[in-house]
Amino acid sequence: MKIQAINGFKDILPDSVVRWQHIEQRARDIFERFGMQEIRMPILEKTELFVRSIGEATDVVEKEMYTFADKGITMRPEATASIMRAFIEHGLHVQQPVQRLYTIGPMFRHERPQKGRLRQFHQLDAEIIGAVEAQVDAELIAMGQMLLDELGLSVSLELNSLGCPVCRPPFKERLVVYLERISTGLCEDCRRRTHTNPLRVLDCKKPTCRELAQDAPSLLEALCPDCDRHFHEVEEALTRLGIGFSRNRFMVRGLDYYTRTTFEFLTTDLGAQAAVGAGGRYDGLIEQLGGPALPGIGFAMGMERIALLLEQQGDAGLPAVGADIFLAALGPETIAPCSLLAHLLRREGVRAAMDYSSRSLKAQLKQANRQNARFTLIVGTDELARQQGTLRNMASQEQRPVDLSGSAAEQCQRLLRVLRA
Ligand code: ATP
Ligand code: MG
Repeated sequence: MKIQAINGFKDILPDSVVRWQHIEQRARDIFERFGMQEIRMPILEKTELFVRSIGEATDVVEKEMYTFADKGITMRPEATASIMRAFIEHGLHVQQPVQRLYTIGPMFRHERPQKGRLRQFHQLDAEIIGAVEAQVDAELIAMGQMLLDELGLSVSLELNSLGCPVCRPPFKERLVVYLERISTGLCEDCRRRTHTNPLRVLDCKKPTCRELAQDAPSLLEALCPDCDRHFHEVEEALTRLGIGFSRNRFMVRGLDYYTRTTFEFLTTDLGAQAAVGAGGRYDGLIEQLGGPALPGIGFAMGMERIALLLEQQGDAGLPAVGADIFLAALGPETIAPCSLLAHLLRREGVRAAMDYSSRSLKAQLKQANRQNARFTLIVGTDELARQQGTLRNMASQEQRPVDLSGSAAEQCQRLLRVLRA
């Protein structure tokens, strides 16, 4: 029996890797413009880290974690908790009061696999730790928007506030009263959530729950003065930066650690998988995990969803990849000189491809095209005897003789001049 990859775990094949590298390069470039530094953490963490940060009564912790039953260890379902663990463990705030960190890598959640939803998926994750100002929220959101813009994706931005330990608990009580009143109309999950995690009822995707949530009290109207000011400052700052958004008072993120600002970048082009990225503030999290009382804000973007969107719109903006030159060695005697030339060209930074099989010119030109070569250097046995080769421009099909006299190093320098012209 053939062994295949596990359901929900996917290979990323060479043709698609181009897209992934493009996303990563754009992300690194833009994140670094914002002063972010990369951090890399292990994939396995103590289960308790996620239970204490994400929250016991969340879908992620209740149903989606890959946990090794006998070891108290979990494959990370998201990056923020791990970054906070590393931040605390290494006392990063001592070196620099405001830390701007990003990471790129795989996350694991046991969900039903479908388009844009996998069990191993990849996130671009960015966090700013130690800054409480609303300007910082706007800057981080602007960074996410800039990345999606530069990738050529059109998304909408939704914004909400989840308040703080001052205004959220009394709001929750009012919400529970409301939810109990309408409980017969709610789905089974939401009836349970009414008591475990009532805010989550607000963003249930089931039509009847949505309908009933319309009349629920709004946290945006119940924010304490500090949270209210913060929310308005974020809105003003976003407007100043020219970033469009809309309020969504029903947005409740799936992780319990959020406070104040939460946001999502949404697409209408991926069916049910609408969220390309999402994030928010988590001002109590670091202290809750045993670290200093520092605020933070971050987001995570789903790379599978970004890659799907890029593919759906024809991969516009993807850099062309391929060989600079293909060396077509046409006889057994030509293999050795061509392979030396290819080696020297590669040492000069040239992407040089070659075939060692002495196949026909036709077959090798086909291969050169498959490798997207810009030029092919054709070297036949007779030509080689005359210290000559033929350089073919693969796009225009124009051919011209090239001088292959002198040492291999001299031939290489001559070819470089042509390639760099
Ligand atoms: P969703 O509502 O789609 O389940 P989420 O709220 O669980 O998303 P977050 O935990 O905020 O997602 O993760 C941030 C981003 O990571 C999402 O916006 C999405 O693009 C991506 N993501 C989350 N879960 C998956 C998954 N199982 N497969 C692929 N991408 C995912
Ligand atoms: Mg989810």
